Amino acid sequence: MVDLRDVKVFLFDMDGTLNMGDVPFEGAMETLKILTDSGRQVCFVTNNSSRSKYDYLKKIHRMGYDAAMEQIVTSGMATAQYINRHYPYKSAYVLGTDCLKQEFADYGIEVKEIGEPADIVILAFDTELTYEKLFHATNLISSGSVYIATHPDLVCPSDKGDMPDAGAFMELIYATNGHRPDVVIGKPCAPMAEFVFDHCSASPKECAFVGDRLYTDIKFGLNNGMTSVLVLTGETTPEMLFKSDTKPDYVLDSVNDLRKYC
Ligand SMILES: [Mg+2]
Repeated sequence: MVDLRDVKVFLFDMDGTLNMGDVPFEGAMETLKILTDSGRQVCFVTNNSSRSKYDYLKKIHRMGYDAAMEQIVTSGMATAQYINRHYPYKSAYVLGTDCLKQEFADYGIEVKEIGEPADIVILAFDTELTYEKLFHATNLISSGSVYIATHPDLVCPSDKGDMPDAGAFMELIYATNGHRPDVVIGKPCAPMAEFVFDHCSASPKECAFVGDRLYTDIKFGLNNGMTSVLVLTGETTPEMLFKSDTKPDYVLDSVNDLRKYC
């Protein structure tokens, strides 16, 4: 743990930390500007693999912060790089949205369609899921394709309620064929951390991770050598924190409390 005054790179979760849906929390975008003006690097790190980095850039601009593309990291990007490093020239069937498939294709990965064999199955947050897609994925995994999940979140919060996310689909796949992912990429796992440190040219000690979820955001910080900061604007209540074994280095009411450390 490093004093927040000495942190050089602030990494932020988004939903529940900076915004809910398309609406930023009061003062959150101004806080990002204050951090940037104090010379800190600010980066957005999301497990949501249903959208591309281009979607996120537009969203952050709409919310009122003038982000650059380099400030955005998604579990989809980290997964694509992981495949290129560890499974070069292998084909992938993507249980994910069309924009994630396009992002994988942009990284040079051969993306297969329903009915085609594939070396790897990618389980992502597929908001365009059909039964046919799911059935093809479970069949490929049963027949021995490498199984990679972009992230482990059980639900994605939204202004309409919690949406079933990749972690919930992992349970469905496990119930179907007894397989768990060979690798999970996103927060709190090491492949996402390695991608982020590389992307930001920073060491773990130089980084603080700020998020609202204990089992992804806070574990991500704690397990990968960063300072961890929990904000109480999202999923975690003080009671949940009290009962949990996962204890963040800092607990703040909202991201706006970071202004004290500028
Ligand atoms: Mg969150």
